[in-house]
Amino acid sequence: MCGIVGYIGEQQAYPVLIKGLHRLEYRGYDSAGIALINPEGTLSVNKAKGKVAALEALCADKDITGTIGIAHTRWATHGEPNTTNAHPHYSQSKNLALVHNGIIENYKSLRAEMENHGLSFCSDTDTEVLVQLVEYMQVSHECDLYTAVQLALKNVVGAYAIAILDRRNPDQIICARKGSPLIIGIGKDENGKAEFFLGSDATPIIEYTDKVVYLQDEEIAIMDRIGRMDITNLANVKQTPQIHTLQMNLDQLEKGGFPHFMLKEIWEQPNALRTCIRGRLNVVEKDVLLSGIIDHKERFINANRIIICACGTSWHSALIGKYFIEEATQIPVEVEYASEFRYRNPVIHSDDVVIAVSQSGETADTLAAIQLAKSHGAFCYGICNVIGSSIARATDSGTYLHVGPEIGVASTKAFTGQVITLALLGLAIAKEKKTLDEQMFHMLVDELQQIPDKMQWTLEHNKHIDQFAQIFTYAKNFIYLGRGYNYPVALEGALKLKEISYIHAEGYPAAEMKHGPIALIDEEMPVVVIAPKRGIYEKVVSNIQEVKSRKGKIISVVTEGDTTVKEMSDYCFEIPDTRDCFVPLLAVIPLQLLSYYVAVAKGRNVDQPRNLAKSVTVE
Ligand code: GLU
Repeated sequence: MCGIVGYIGEQQAYPVLIKGLHRLEYRGYDSAGIALINPEGTLSVNKAKGKVAALEALCADKDITGTIGIAHTRWATHGEPNTTNAHPHYSQSKNLALVHNGIIENYKSLRAEMENHGLSFCSDTDTEVLVQLVEYMQVSHECDLYTAVQLALKNVVGAYAIAILDRRNPDQIICARKGSPLIIGIGKDENGKAEFFLGSDATPIIEYTDKVVYLQDEEIAIMDRIGRMDITNLANVKQTPQIHTLQMNLDQLEKGGFPHFMLKEIWEQPNALRTCIRGRLNVVEKDVLLSGIIDHKERFINANRIIICACGTSWHSALIGKYFIEEATQIPVEVEYASEFRYRNPVIHSDDVVIAVSQSGETADTLAAIQLAKSHGAFCYGICNVIGSSIARATDSGTYLHVGPEIGVASTKAFTGQVITLALLGLAIAKEKKTLDEQMFHMLVDELQQIPDKMQWTLEHNKHIDQFAQIFTYAKNFIYLGRGYNYPVALEGALKLKEISYIHAEGYPAAEMKHGPIALIDEEMPVVVIAPKRGIYEKVVSNIQEVKSRKGKIISVVTEGDTTVKEMSDYCFEIPDTRDCFVPLLAVIPLQLLSYYVAVAKGRNVDQPRNLAKSVTVE
């Protein structure tokens, strides 16, 4: 959540920072701001409520010169989204400007303390407390900025990624992190002069350099204009930065002709999943190879239990993963909301395997859940998309999705990537434990290989959803029903619709209908039913009948060629036949398209839905 970008070098900073903010805008878009030190040594801060475009409009007639700057796009946690609360925040003297991602949990007491020292505050944010505290330390200890930042951070409880400028020293940026991500890009401009970039993720950096350093928790970095970077931790121990090479390209960050990232990412799924299974699924030798498992197979073979911790869409993929892993490996699997798990004294044994599922690999609650599991001696495994992310680094082993950067706030390709990765994981464990007979194992490997082609078919055959999405813009509520493997798909379909169209939607196991939700059905209510000709098909048909008898509008997802459910439905989407356990990978596609087109028909901002942000790095 929230995006930080920074630059110091020989180029003009403003274009680099604005472009970076646009790339990071998916992380937060309540307001945006920029701080620059111009050649005369003036530290200017410009901020605007709303999107980065509003900031650009504001800056059109401002002095935007300067080769050093920091910028921010906000997802408010403390204080309403307005110009005053936008970052960067000045210190009292206006010598310092600071941007922040995270939450300073003890901001109230710190603020009261500083008010007692005569400092006054302009905003309602926790962030302003931090910049005031740094200045207070600088003045009261008569120390340099680095020492002041260190002293201030020692007094802070909470999570932060920060970048800070000092008007009196236009040749350095100081940044630090704990719990929120921050990446430093090391570049050389066209004249071979060193330059540094800063980003909450790699997207604002990749255009300029692929050499990066992932700042670690409690590390403070100084980047200066002559290409020096010093990193020390809060305990003042010098750190040796590890330089990594980024594995993404710029094309992956563009919309590629699609009106929205979400639609692009929906259509990318067949190829994304081909990349995800490449080298991991071997149809010739009928084998599954996950290096993260091979190296630790004893932990999996001897696992008493698997606990999967996740949030949001990842929680839904985790639930599908549970059904598959239990069936394939006979190991009991529990799926936990990371935010609940971490605060409820869960029973964790040292022979448990705890899996964290998170697209960004930065989800604060999931990261904390993993830290808790580790402290109990459990073996921790990460399933993330973002390479080098905090969860990927905090876990003992893991698997990357390799589905490419996901920019759309409503997750699509990461969801299917997670489902297929969990299926690979289940198969890899089953192979080691020999819990699936050979014939079944081979059949599942063959079928999994065909999923990307079947996804392509599903996309092509459901393009027409755009033509009738308008019909549903009247709806205030939707119900999604599914059973077995498709119950989590119903949850995911409902979540997608809520997220981007703001229509209330609920997913239920179809048979639960009669235990309450059926009271909601009337002729206004669209009911989306996932009814493939697999599993307990007949039972789902009966559930559809129950809805129909109460005049609900049936929108069904059926197996290609099925006429029974089609005839009962008002609208019907077809998917190819596949094994029961892989139906979610196909059935979710029409639901993604439905939510996308309903949201577009309602005029919603699909890639930047209200109140949401990608990568939930705050609790
Ligand atoms: N807590 C800060 C604020 O509300 C930063 C939030 C964020 O990480 O986006 O301004």
